[in-house]
Amino acid sequence: MREIVHIQAGQCGNQIGAKFWEVACDEHGIDPTGTYHGDSDLQLERINVYFTEATGGRYVPRAILMDLEPGTMDSVRSGPYGQIFRPDNFVFGQTGAGNNWAKGHYTEGAELIDSVLDVVRKEAEACDCMQGFQISHSLGGGTGSGMGTLLISKIREEYPDKMMLTFSVFPSPKVSDTVVEPYNATLSVHQLVENADECMVLDNEALYDICFRTLKLVTPTFGDLNHLISATISGITCCLRFPGQLNSDLRKLAVNLVPFPRLTFFMVGFAPLTSRGSQLYRALTVPELTQQMFDAKNMMCAADPRHGKYLTASAMYRGRMSTKEVDAQLLNVQTKNSSYFVEWIPNNVKTTVCDIPPKGMKMASTFIGNSTAIQEMFKRVGDQFTVMFRRKAFLHWYTGEGMDELEFTEAESNMNDLVSEYQQYQDARPDDEGDYGEEEEQEGEYSQMS
Ligand code: GDP
Repeated sequence: MREIVHIQAGQCGNQIGAKFWEVACDEHGIDPTGTYHGDSDLQLERINVYFTEATGGRYVPRAILMDLEPGTMDSVRSGPYGQIFRPDNFVFGQTGAGNNWAKGHYTEGAELIDSVLDVVRKEAEACDCMQGFQISHSLGGGTGSGMGTLLISKIREEYPDKMMLTFSVFPSPKVSDTVVEPYNATLSVHQLVENADECMVLDNEALYDICFRTLKLVTPTFGDLNHLISATISGITCCLRFPGQLNSDLRKLAVNLVPFPRLTFFMVGFAPLTSRGSQLYRALTVPELTQQMFDAKNMMCAADPRHGKYLTASAMYRGRMSTKEVDAQLLNVQTKNSSYFVEWIPNNVKTTVCDIPPKGMKMASTFIGNSTAIQEMFKRVGDQFTVMFRRKAFLHWYTGEGMDELEFTEAESNMNDLVSEYQQYQDARPDDEGDYGEEEEQEGEYSQMS
């Protein structure tokens, strides 16, 4: 048994987390009371990755819900699958974080963190051989962002050898009207670079554009955005939840996707895109799915992969289809677009097919790419950070909670460094000699050899 402990933090984290559990329960044949009503052994074969089997055969999500105010968790509790969660695993405060990262990370959140860690420990101890943690949160607010990253660092301290996967929602002014979000997001990225092993980037800017441009929704709501998110999370976790070879646990996923320790932020894509409640009138073919999933318009991150290169990628298809055709299509994409894949990592695109399609579809595919183009998103948030920070605008909200300005400076440069690292690897050629940062030493060695 290789269990994963799931944590959802803050408003956004709890909203998308609740959706994830609705979809996961549905796909595994679990009803809102935790009873199994499925029709395939495949649904139960790896059920213990995400669920605990309680006495009486009920399945209980291995989920911890945390927030600094009770509202969102109350809605989750009274939502369609609200009764399936373990009541002790709801941990919440009353004060709120007021979109202030410092409150989540240093003051209000720090006060509540021990009660969360108690529940984390309880879940971890009940595992047979836990593989790691996953957390859903937004980076633009205060709780999911500040307290979420506090929890991540505490968990890393206590479970240094376990994997940490995040589903992180990046802020966009198209969706939110809180001006300090670039601060909160940059402070979070500073943490994630050091303490998370893999981050699935869910960028509200891209999600909004998909809803508006592709799905033709005039005023997209969080419900619409979260519909895209839940389809994507379901696709990403499919390999972890159902039997199969590729990316079958969190560590294997990281080994395939992370060529350098800091480059852990992935662009994810999904095909076919559908809006809530809409039906697909036509079955898609494998070539169509492949074309769509690589399309910049299907990426949940506002960055164009054609502006960079893929270091690595994984394509996961779901439904009944020919693996031969899938392999042929993927090879075709790579041959035709070879300049968009770094030459110096051979075979850097992996594919897999899982027989079980998402509910209501015959076929679907999910894409995870480690692309240097993701620097575009970091630059966007970084630029928004810098214009405010230059004037020290809104800083008193953070220093008032005891934060030092220095942490802002460090976060800013850490994110700038990240952008430069992506650029370096984008420019790297296969016959480049030196390793970055150690160029002189390397040159010395080579000249000795020749
Ligand atoms: P927290 O409760 O303090 O963690 O704050 P929020 O989760 O409300 O963080 C605000 C950020 O999250 C903003 O960038 C919002 O646009 C975004 N956000 C809030 N709720 C949702 C949601 O349900 N879906 C999505 N996609 N984004 C959300």
